[in-house]
Formats: sequence, structure tokens, C-alpha cells
Amino acid sequence: MRIETDLKLGFKDVMIRPKRSTLKSRSEVSLERNFNFLHSTASWTGIPIMAANMDTVGTFDIAVVLAKERLFTAIHKHYSVQEWDDFLQNVTPDFYNYIAISTGTGKEDAAKIAQIIKSNPLLKFICIDVANGYSEHFVRFLKQTRKQYPEKVIIAGNVVTGEMTEELLLAGADIVKVGIGPGSVCTTRIKTGVGYPQLSAIIECADAAHGLGGHIISDGGCTTPGDVAKAFGAGSDFVMLGGMLAGHTESGGELIEVNGEKFKQFYGMSSATAMDKHSGGVAEYRASEGKTVQVAFKGNVINTILDILGGLRSTCTYVGASRLKELTKRTTFIRVSEQENQIFSK
Ligand code: 5GP
Repeated sequence: MRIETDLKLGFKDVMIRPKRSTLKSRSEVSLERNFNFLHSTASWTGIPIMAANMDTVGTFDIAVVLAKERLFTAIHKHYSVQEWDDFLQNVTPDFYNYIAISTGTGKEDAAKIAQIIKSNPLLKFICIDVANGYSEHFVRFLKQTRKQYPEKVIIAGNVVTGEMTEELLLAGADIVKVGIGPGSVCTTRIKTGVGYPQLSAIIECADAAHGLGGHIISDGGCTTPGDVAKAFGAGSDFVMLGGMLAGHTESGGELIEVNGEKFKQFYGMSSATAMDKHSGGVAEYRASEGKTVQVAFKGNVINTILDILGGLRSTCTYVGASRLKELTKRTTFIRVSEQENQIFSK
């Protein structure tokens, strides 16, 4: 046993210090980024915010709205081959820049994405997603996927430390997904005691990735537009959102009415709800590591997106960044023991 005493921080432990700025208005801020990747020769331009590959968030309906704004959706892995084929019949080539197909590391997963990609070769992004990115089996699957699809942009995760970020990049990932335990419907930290405060995970993994020419996604833990800004400020190239995009018209999940108020069901992908739905129940040897909640219905997702983008532009003006790209350079975090004033929130 060993104890590391270096301080590790989450979003709630910091604020961003304002800096002198020559920007006159938020409208002068550009949130678009341009990326070239470590392995794939593809390039990407867009606003680097992603909907999570959860079946209540990363839906085809969400992707249509987000792609119009040049935001990204990691589509969840539970659509059938037929559903993919039908859906992609009505999209433009540009749309393929804003979606990823997701997969686990099982043989059936590999066979299914091979089939979908074969009939839809324009699919450009593959997201290999497991709860624990530290397993050798996962790394082997990643290497195999890179060999099979040399041109695709491969996202792989989740990990939270620099050395594993490097390993995934060297094994063929273009983008490493970072986050263990911070998610809104995640119970991993409760069930297992394992985790890593997200802000520190971003800082450490971004440093490792950027040193090799790779990129990272901060995945999980954002509860406000301010958290999204902190994730970018810490060095994340992309920020992935689950809970913040749940509960909308275009999100999956049932719409429920209780005493005249509308809610949508939202659940973790390792929750009992998800396992009942997709794998015939929770296997005896494992515990569910996700919750099921009811989110107050929030209407159309575009309003939430515009709110997040407005917040982010404002962060940039507070620190004098005319482009999102400059935000990390212009970010100084201050450690705090308070966040917002709660007097009217209870
Ligand atoms: P959020 O934005 O809601 O805070 O976090 C979304 C992320 O939580 C997802 O992208 C995924 O990485 C993670 N997640 C989703 N479902 C589960 C789950 O059932 N268990 C755990 N441990 N994490 C989950």
C-alpha cells in the first residue's frame, strides 16, 4: 500500500481568474477548433463539445441538432445495423464529421461495427468505450481496431492518468477519453472506491497526450456551463456531456408525467435499468455501477446548447481569449472553498 499526497482537484475546487482583455463583445469569440490527429489523416473542424454515448443522450435525434451547430455526438452502441442503415440514408457527407459509432470490446461488438462500417464507409469516428481502460484486453482490442481501420479517427477510454493516456495513444488511439467516476449517474466511486478528481485528471492526461500529438476528451462531471469552461481551461480538447444533455425532447428515455409535471428517465449505462434493457439483467458476479433518475423535462436541446456556448464565450471574454484554442493558455485557476451563492437555490 502507498499513499500519494499530491493534491488532486475537481471542478468545484477552482474558479478561473479574470484577466485583462481587449475583446469588446462575446460575439468576437470563436469556439471552433481545428484538429489534425495522431494516427488518422483526417482533420476536424467544429465546436468540440460531445454528447455522451448513452442511450438516453447520444441518440440520432440529438446528433441531428448538434451537427447543425457543428457539435459532436458519440452515438450509443445499442442501435441495430438496420437502424444505422436507415438513419444514414438521409444525411449529408458533412454530418459524418459530427458523429462517432461506439463499441465495446466484445467479439459481437467488433462484428457489429464492421457490418455497419461496411455498408456506411463514410463513418469516420470510432469510439471504443469501456468503464475500465486499464485492461490489457482493451489495449489489444484497440491495437486490432487500429490495424483494421487505419484511416478512422479512434477514440478510446476511459482512463485518468498520464501513463495510460500515452499507452492508448501508442496503441492506436487518436483521442483518449478521460474520466473514472465523475459522471452524474455513475456510482463507481461508491461501489468500488476507485476514481480520480476530474480537473486533475484532465490536466495530467492532456499534458501526456499533447506531448505525443494526441488529444483528449474530458468525459463526465460537468454540471454547469462553468464546468465545461473549466474542463477546456484545464487543457481538454473536447468535453463530453451526459447529464447536462439528458431530459430533452431529443434525448432518449421515457417521458413521464407525475402530478402534472414532466420528467424524463435518465440512467447510467452500467445501471440495472440499462443492463435489464440491453443485457437481460445484472450478471450475478457484478454490481450495477450506475443510477436511474428522473430529470425534469427541459424542452428542446438547442436551448441548452446555446446556453452552454453563451457561457463559454463569456468565459473567453473574461480571460481575453478570442478563440477557444487560447483558453487553456489564458487560464489561471484559483483554489477556492466556495462556489456560487446558494441563497435562492434551495
Ligand atoms: P455526466 O456528463 O452525466 O456527468 O457524465 C457522463 C459520463 O458518465 C458518460 O460519458 C460515461 O463515461 C459515464 N457513465 C455513463 N453511465 C455510467 C454508469 O452507469 N456508470 C459509470 N461508472 N459511468 C457512467
